[in-house]
Amino acid sequence: MANLGCTCGRRMSSTNLPSDNIIYVFPKKGVRETLELNPDISLLDYERDYNRELEYWYCTECRRVHVVDNVPCGKVLTVYESDRGSETYSPSELPLASEPDFFYVFSEKELYDEEECDNPANLAEWIERQGIMHYYCISSDKNTVYKRELGGKYRKVYSKEKSR
Ligand SMILES: [Zn+2]
Repeated sequence: MANLGCTCGRRMSSTNLPSDNIIYVFPKKGVRETLELNPDISLLDYERDYNRELEYWYCTECRRVHVVDNVPCGKVLTVYESDRGSETYSPSELPLASEPDFFYVFSEKELYDEEECDNPANLAEWIERQGIMHYYCISSDKNTVYKRELGGKYRKVYSKEKSR
């Protein structure tokens, strides 16, 4: 998909690379399994090959994230709206599934900037350097997204839009 309209009225586009509207969600489990098989894999190779069943569209206006089926004219499956909480939680206090989904989120621009610099990090270096500040998890009911902060506590940052 090349264009998507946000609930707030803003039009998002993935035509210009890197796009401000595309974000990459790397599951921690997938990263770990990839690094076990190929510890030296480049960031670019991982990014090219990782599971792309879904696209994640980010609106720079209202910060909503749209989860979209990655097929031509794919359906918007879920919309998350920015919903920053005041409280922080330790991981054991979060309503996570028994096999929790932790993941790293990067903007397309962040990845492209790294891949195009003179000495780009490989996946392992990138995750070690950047991952900790881009580390998230989602509640077992998939309604709430938490972000890790300095000190290892988590804060609510996104909620599923109720009208969906
Ligand atoms: Zn928007």
